Amino acid sequence: MKLGFDVDDTLIDLRQHAFHLYNEKLNKKIGLDVFEALSTMEIHEPFGLSPEEGKAMWSKWRKEIYFTSCPPFPGAVEALQELARQGHEVYYITARPKEHCEQTRQWLHENGFPVQNHHFFCGMSDSEKVHIIRDLGLDYYFDDKPNVLQTLSELPLKIYVKDRSYNKHLDVPRLTSWSELKEIVNQP
Ligand SMILES: [Mg+2]
Repeated sequence: MKLGFDVDDTLIDLRQHAFHLYNEKLNKKIGLDVFEALSTMEIHEPFGLSPEEGKAMWSKWRKEIYFTSCPPFPGAVEALQELARQGHEVYYITARPKEHCEQTRQWLHENGFPVQNHHFFCGMSDSEKVHIIRDLGLDYYFDDKPNVLQTLSELPLKIYVKDRSYNKHLDVPRLTSWSELKEIVNQP
């Protein structure tokens, strides 16, 4: 089977990693309970930043956010390795900016994700993901972002939302933990 995965906040806990970095850079100690209660994808608000300041903060530290020690979600690496071992095709479809694509592919590989040649797609806009997903003929696709998932409802594949605080309103099958993946894929 062919399975596609978004990267940030689907396979890896990027926002929480960024939240820790913001605390460090801004010399704050805002608790994880605040992070976990956020109803927005953006994380700037608890730091007292305006949307513009939030954007500037993210841009300034983007490389550090992406390429330091952002942890994968528990079980994500193992679940994808297991899929690859079973002969399934694993694809990554990430809208990270083009200039960070090659390093992102490398980072995934170094952090244990199975990355095959030509199975890594990067640098598109959110609204372009649907075309790649359709052209690949994926059987499954996993993402966290409401704006992306809402573009996929016409496609003949199974979509899952990675459960996060800002996507609770979506009426899409939900993956809470990567330990559930095996069961999803082995469903008749
Ligand atoms: Mg994402």
